[in-house]
Amino acid sequence: MPDSVLPLSSWKWQEKGLVAPDESVDEGVDFGNPLELTSWIVNQLRVSSFNDVRTIIEKHKTITRLVQLKQLREKGAVTQPKLHLDRQQKMSALAAYMTIDKVNSGPCQQCLHRKSRGPCTECVAGSNNLFNGACTNCQFSSTAAGCSFYQGKRRKDKKRSHSTSDDDRSTGRFYLTPEVLEDLTTRELERWKNMIEDELDLRNPSSARKRPRS
Ligand SMILES: [Zn+2]
Ligand SMILES: [Zn+2]
Repeated sequence: MPDSVLPLSSWKWQEKGLVAPDESVDEGVDFGNPLELTSWIVNQLRVSSFNDVRTIIEKHKTITRLVQLKQLREKGAVTQPKLHLDRQQKMSALAAYMTIDKVNSGPCQQCLHRKSRGPCTECVAGSNNLFNGACTNCQFSSTAAGCSFYQGKRRKDKKRSHSTSDDDRSTGRFYLTPEVLEDLTTRELERWKNMIEDELDLRNPSSARKRPRS
């Protein structure tokens, strides 16, 4: 534990200091109760051994929004995202989610997608100094560079003015990431593959692949 930690009550929600959920139910925190969940998260982040996590959480001691988790549907069952509060990037994303002033008005393209992995209901992005402008959900789910608010260097970045580039992600297109692929069902993948092949055939009829159509 770091040498000087601030007490949990230093952080305020609507002028009241946060109170730790009962120790005895530490792992049984009510994830459906945003104030309890938020208090539980802050209580862990404030003692984080990662400096950047503590820098973010200590910068604003007024909680600007409570953590509300998305409802995910997996094979018909409703589940909630896992938070993994041992990972630096996930902790710093949540720290920012709870405390920053949001600069975006609408959600990013990844948060709009129903398969997005971001855990929180709201899409919250800060200034470009924070996660290169990416929203906290995309930062949390390791897809910051695919966030439509991302302003950092992209792997194939040339000049920002070259917006004719095929892989320009700033156009607000949905970006296909390995995580998105992994989340798709086999049936959805097959549908996508057929759609892509059909589109390619349309664009280049001479090289249309001969493939069995069932
Ligand atoms: Zn977002
Ligand atoms: Zn995003």
